[in-house]
Amino acid sequence: MNRRSFLQNVAGSLAAASLPGVHAAAEPEKQEKMIGIQVGAVSFADEGVAPVLDEFQKSASINTLFVATFTYGRGIAGRQVPGQPLPDHGSQKYDSDTFFGGSYTNINAKYYANTAFKDFRAPDLGAFDVLEQVIPEAKKRGMKTICWYEDVFHRNLPNIEKLQEVELSGNKAGTLCFNNPDYLSWLQEIAEDWSRSYEIDGIMWGSERQGALSNVLGASHGHPQPSTATCFCEFCYAKARRQGINPERAKQGFLALEKFVEASRKGVRPVDGSYVELWRLMLRYPEMLAWENLWTSSLREAQKAIYDRVKSVNPKLGVGWHIWHNNSFNPIYRAEQDLAEMAPYSDFLKVVMYQNCAGERMTDYVNSVGSTYFSDVPKQELLEFHYRVLDYGKEAGLKDLPTAGFSADYVYRETKRAKEALKDQKTKLWPGIDIDIPTAAGNSKCTPDGTKAVVLAALRGEADGVILSRKYSEMKLENLRAAGTALKEFRSA
Ligand SMILES: [Zn+2]
Repeated sequence: MNRRSFLQNVAGSLAAASLPGVHAAAEPEKQEKMIGIQVGAVSFADEGVAPVLDEFQKSASINTLFVATFTYGRGIAGRQVPGQPLPDHGSQKYDSDTFFGGSYTNINAKYYANTAFKDFRAPDLGAFDVLEQVIPEAKKRGMKTICWYEDVFHRNLPNIEKLQEVELSGNKAGTLCFNNPDYLSWLQEIAEDWSRSYEIDGIMWGSERQGALSNVLGASHGHPQPSTATCFCEFCYAKARRQGINPERAKQGFLALEKFVEASRKGVRPVDGSYVELWRLMLRYPEMLAWENLWTSSLREAQKAIYDRVKSVNPKLGVGWHIWHNNSFNPIYRAEQDLAEMAPYSDFLKVVMYQNCAGERMTDYVNSVGSTYFSDVPKQELLEFHYRVLDYGKEAGLKDLPTAGFSADYVYRETKRAKEALKDQKTKLWPGIDIDIPTAAGNSKCTPDGTKAVVLAALRGEADGVILSRKYSEMKLENLRAAGTALKEFRSA
């Protein structure tokens, strides 16, 4: 082909592509999917900004970075967690001694003049400012940058005690209270700091926590101790009273529930059975349900406050939320995630659908509630009950679940369900996809075939994009590349 006919061909195909009904133009949404990846500052520091971004583009056509800008947790920041095999890129050393967490950007003190919590710059990487380093390189490549922060703190940080929740035991918690005006304001100030100080494209925030009812019942994959359920602080008491909820009655109810749960975990069956006992306590102390809803509605108010603050700085910035994996296990928690209700203050939702680690996590959840309010139900039956009420198809039985994980069908069904809930809303759905999230030795691990299948399942379920999770520093390149293969297959289908 000579140069002239080559140019004619190019011009011809561009013209054809712009005609309605022609393949490429008929399905522009296939080309425009948001393909995101969560990545922490340490990956850029270890491997270099340009090489990491080039790898993202080459291996999986990544167009959006979810940069862990603030957390004290190792789930989204830091290198691979100790005890898990290091991936085939990055520093081949663990950061057990150097990881601390905090803000991976410079802190502009003026935003925090009125908050008690001021000193939170992560010491891990010295003066490295992840946004300053990454944004120019991302822009060169047409990639967007979203600040990704989460509700995870240390117990011993300067002034943190002023923001902490109070446990059922009366002790201060390691977690912070959304009804504490100081924390609520800090959550907005840090979002404003990033929105004004850097050329970002948006902000995602996540809170992997729930209210006291589910926590006392042990209704998550983390086996929480009832005495540590939150929150019983003065701000929550005052807010409850304003809403006509009696905090003393709520606390009495939770203490009675704690007693029942502790006995049940030791194998003591109440005379009328565990499930009946739960209902008896809830009927006697309906304040417990009101307290649970108070916690969740306070979380929603915090999200709305962050949303409004960012939009007041720049309405073009996207703002959305990470929705905790417990949404896939605990029906009470799922009831609290009313996506349509969240839509007005959510430009996007990352609904976690971590298919591989879901196997061991669902098993943990069933073992936990199977020893509290469902202790009269054989565990395999209890698992099947959850598959039924959560509308999953054929997933593994209890014995095989940790080594099998959940199937691609789970991701497809969860995507469909969330899309249906968000019907007629502007909110984009970006399922969180599991790439090498650590599981216990001997349990199922991500594979290229499995990864490809779940990315395809999300896209075929009409997700508006996907967020590859939890962090690049724990992902194997072959699994990241499998996500890219899925995208190619989806686009060419
Ligand atoms: Zn509180």
